[in-house]
Amino acid sequence: MGTPRWARRFFEEVVMRHTGKRECLRWPYATNHKGYAQIGDWANSKRRSVLVGALICERLYGPAQPGHEHRHSCGKGHLACATPAHVSWSTHKTNMSDMKKHGTQPDTCGESNGRHKITERQANTIFKAKGLQREIAARYGIDRSQVGRIKQRKSWPHIHKGGRQ
Ligand SMILES: [Zn+2]
Repeated sequence: MGTPRWARRFFEEVVMRHTGKRECLRWPYATNHKGYAQIGDWANSKRRSVLVGALICERLYGPAQPGHEHRHSCGKGHLACATPAHVSWSTHKTNMSDMKKHGTQPDTCGESNGRHKITERQANTIFKAKGLQREIAARYGIDRSQVGRIKQRKSWPHIHKGGRQ
């Protein structure tokens, strides 16, 4: 059905008119699997979703340059922040160092990281699993890149050392 009209209205009338700078305006509608606000792209006849932060940037600053993505200066993008004053276009690299600063880097290793959906045992199994990374990812309901990082020992670097103790 495309985008619900109330989400569109909220975007136009609340988000784009929001002038507050301190507090995050939270997007009350759909989010992606990482918690980022998203909305159906009504300008495009194809049925797809765009990130609200990116849409705000597009409105404020024009389309993204190649290699740019939207950045939340507040570090709360994963908490559905939809605050015009908090978003800007930036390079992937800047985003990554932001994430480190804000402690929201998606893949620091270990079970203590709340964002990890897999257990150490599963990471161990994934590390040993045979087959395409895409298929392994689907099996565990995680991102293909996460499988890649486990395989390359970038995530869970300790698991291959004799497995669980
Ligand atoms: Zn924010």
